[in-house]
Amino acid sequence: MKIDADWLNDHHLQSLIAALDGAGFQTLAVGGCVRNALMGRAISDVDLATAALPETVTNTAVSLGFRAIPTGIDHGTITVVTPQRAYEITTFRRDISTDGRHAVVQFADDVAQDAARRDFTINALYVAADGTVIDPLGGLPDIAACRVRFVGDAGARIREDYLRILRFFRFSAIYGDASAGFDAQTIAACADHLDGIDTLSRERVGQEMRKLLAAIDPAPALATMAQAGVLARVLTGADVRFIAPLVHLEEGVARGFIARLTLMGGQDVTASLRLSWAETSMLDTIRGELGGVLTAAALGWRHGLDLATDIIVARAALMGQGLPHDWQGEIQRGAGAICPVTAADFMPRLSGPDLGRALRDAIERWLASDLRARPQDLI
Ligand code: ATP
Ligand code: MG
Repeated sequence: MKIDADWLNDHHLQSLIAALDGAGFQTLAVGGCVRNALMGRAISDVDLATAALPETVTNTAVSLGFRAIPTGIDHGTITVVTPQRAYEITTFRRDISTDGRHAVVQFADDVAQDAARRDFTINALYVAADGTVIDPLGGLPDIAACRVRFVGDAGARIREDYLRILRFFRFSAIYGDASAGFDAQTIAACADHLDGIDTLSRERVGQEMRKLLAAIDPAPALATMAQAGVLARVLTGADVRFIAPLVHLEEGVARGFIARLTLMGGQDVTASLRLSWAETSMLDTIRGELGGVLTAAALGWRHGLDLATDIIVARAALMGQGLPHDWQGEIQRGAGAICPVTAADFMPRLSGPDLGRALRDAIERWLASDLRARPQDLI
């Protein structure tokens, strides 16, 4: 089996692989780029695996005029920077011992050993420079079935690295066939290791949850996580019941994950997922307007197109209602509107805090009028 992909034909990549292959070190693309190419999806980054040791990778890259940065030297990773792309190139390795978070690695000279230390069969596929697919573990049928399956025994692999519980749900949400359901034994293995989730850093948990929530439809994975007790460990008090209606209403409006996260509720969301200041402020804004009565136009004026979209869609999902008539047009009308009153309208009659209050009050009335009140009605 062969794949044909633009990223693989990049001549800098080809020259890097040819140099290593030519010196007797098998070098292959691996992971997400291969998986996504086989599934006909866009790729994000290109990761490489090689029989060469990091020192050889570095020397080879430099001799070709590329920069080589030891970004993950502890586990054998060098980042090679070419004019088009940066490649993470990792020496074939096997993980000889793990404590649930850190692996002690030993280099391997064989791609089959390298495949065995990877998390899921769909992530353990390789491709050579000419496009030939190498499948040491029989992952191709799983690709065809959109099936996320652990390499080896799920429980044993989870004990090596508890993040794999979350990766399982993330990859299932993005690549899995929801109609096939989840494998009961795998879910049981996740449910058996809930305490391990508490040992993970909140940054890593947050990164996984962001990616999971950004899937086209994360609802089945989130519901299964909730049933298995995983979600409560990630976000105490999270509730998934509004996610499926929200995803349905979001169709055709590509938005980020924050509205979904907001509708899950939960305690200490910012700390639990290490949200950034900007993410937290979006979440607070959406939450603050969910129970409010402002129209689409008023929200568009107050919060701009994107946040107003999140609020309108989230509110409809929460209320179990459809979207308001021409809500997108209305948000746009609001986003482009100019408030008809300014401080000058109240001067010199008012000043100081009185002026501020009067202006805020006039703006509130303008918003409540669906941006239709005229200046004379407001002043
Ligand atoms: P994407 O980058 O599109 O999110 P990816 O599959 O490339 O997906 P990465 O997190 O970049 O995911 O990891 C690259 C590869 O490294 C994976 O495909 C997998 O083979 C392996 N891998 C990453 N994290 C783990 C892990 N925690 N346990 C085992 N293997 C892992
Ligand atoms: Mg990747």
